[in-house]
Amino acid sequence: MDLKGTGASAGIGIGRVVIVEEPTLDYVSRTVEDTAAETERLNAAIASYIDYTNGQAETMRETVGEKEAEILTGHIVMISDPYMQGEMVKLVEGGMCAEDALVQICEMFATMFEATGDELTMQRATDVRDVKTGVLAELMNKRPVDMGTLPLESIVVTHDLTPSMTAGIRPGAVAGVITETGGLTSHSAILARAMEIPAVLSVPGVCHKLADGDLVVVDGSAGTVVIDPAEDVLEQARADQAAFAAERAELAKFIGCRTTTASGENLELFANIGKPDDATQAMERDAEGIGLFRTEFLFMDSPTAPTEDEQFEAYKKVALICKNKPVIIRTLDIGGDKDVPYLGLDKEDNPFMGFRAIRYCLAREDLYRAQLRALLRASAFGEIRIMVPLVTCVDELTAVKDLIKRYMQEFDQEGIAYNPDIQVGVMIETPAAAVIADLLAEEADFFSIGTNDLTGYTMCADRGNDKVRYLYSTYNPAVLRSIRRVIEAGNEAGIMVGMCGEAAADPTLVPMWIAFGLGEYSVSATSVLATRKTISLWTKEEACEVADKVMQLKTASEVYEVLQESAR
Ligand code: PEP
Ligand code: MG
Repeated sequence: MDLKGTGASAGIGIGRVVIVEEPTLDYVSRTVEDTAAETERLNAAIASYIDYTNGQAETMRETVGEKEAEILTGHIVMISDPYMQGEMVKLVEGGMCAEDALVQICEMFATMFEATGDELTMQRATDVRDVKTGVLAELMNKRPVDMGTLPLESIVVTHDLTPSMTAGIRPGAVAGVITETGGLTSHSAILARAMEIPAVLSVPGVCHKLADGDLVVVDGSAGTVVIDPAEDVLEQARADQAAFAAERAELAKFIGCRTTTASGENLELFANIGKPDDATQAMERDAEGIGLFRTEFLFMDSPTAPTEDEQFEAYKKVALICKNKPVIIRTLDIGGDKDVPYLGLDKEDNPFMGFRAIRYCLAREDLYRAQLRALLRASAFGEIRIMVPLVTCVDELTAVKDLIKRYMQEFDQEGIAYNPDIQVGVMIETPAAAVIADLLAEEADFFSIGTNDLTGYTMCADRGNDKVRYLYSTYNPAVLRSIRRVIEAGNEAGIMVGMCGEAAADPTLVPMWIAFGLGEYSVSATSVLATRKTISLWTKEEACEVADKVMQLKTASEVYEVLQESAR
């Protein structure tokens, strides 16, 4: 029997299960007479907890990093809050024992954080409970589990991997982690990724399904756990593990570097996301911004259209996660293959050429207003840029800009903050937009080439239709000429030209984009470092030599062949 969960930290872990349970911290409630002595006991436990956690933070700083240590110093800040401590002392002064007072106040805060419904704030509920467990352990003279004594190659199986548990892990000792709870952005996930430990989270009942000593293979990319693997599975897992380690080591050299060609041109390397939380991983993978936030997922994941406030929270969250790095948010790109039942889109004979994306939004101003206003409000919290999908004529862009101006006036009257210089750009993903790129460049603040659709529309070949798949290729001279034209028009007008379709991360095509003068590449979070590496391998001159050759060719297969031969 194999298990499935959320793959939260990539890599393959092979080892024996160690079930790690938090110490039971059951205590008997009692009333106290000597409240002064009880207050002192509480204060001493808090002081001792702070001392212990400081030590853990120091270890974490040395073994993992400053950012991760801040999770623990955050716990110290939390418990040092005079209001929180004051509330506990008040309860003790009323005759409550220190344990009860601690639990009651911590739970009050945890419930308050959970009630916000905002994931980042909800994460603080886990933190406050971790603090509660830590101080309770001090009151009862029981320290939390010490992961420093685990045997090598352990696969830790636990209900939730708390930061305080993680702090004790010696680098290299834990081969994998499996938990019952926690998502991609939980602290367990963030810490597992920072420590490069393969992790599969949210596996229901895993603490009962596995037993100490079980041999397992944890695949932190696929989110799977193989129990008692056969010899051939084990062999394959070892090979995958070695390949993964080699690739990781190679790509690690590119963390923290600028994205630069071998001849020194600086380029921008962003990431594509579908949900606000994905921004965390994008930043961890060292993306320099978000080049495409596909907002339709916010609409698809909800039973009714998300309100202006809900959207504002989502966009603000991305802005805050990205800390003033550029965040390009595409307005609703609905229709075609993306249906949202409650929007009541009619069935059309040809939905890809029908009433969709910006065409639909401009006709549904009620809906679009909420999105544009949410984006403007969120622009006060970071470098948010607005991108309009499926543009085919200048009027569409001017209509959006007019709406934005109108909503800015509304905000001026309402006294609501926004960025008055917010950039408004267009996705170039239709042949029409490519042909009038020079005209659009006069009105747009930036371009982002959507090669997924531009390829399909240019070749008149649906990306989902197997029978015409042989035509659906960005290597076609028609598509390459179109892309070159767009990049040149944008560069001539002095606006940023990016690319957010899959072709931006295709290592064989990267020299073409360098040669054409593409300024920004937006790829999936997992491709960021690989793309930075590919870019670093080409000088502009070498890329231009390849492009000159390729642009003489007549067929997609010839292009493919030459690019494969020159690939680095
Ligand atoms: C594109 O068309 O290239 C693109 C990035 O948008 P989507 O894949 O969401 O249509
Ligand atoms: Mg598209």
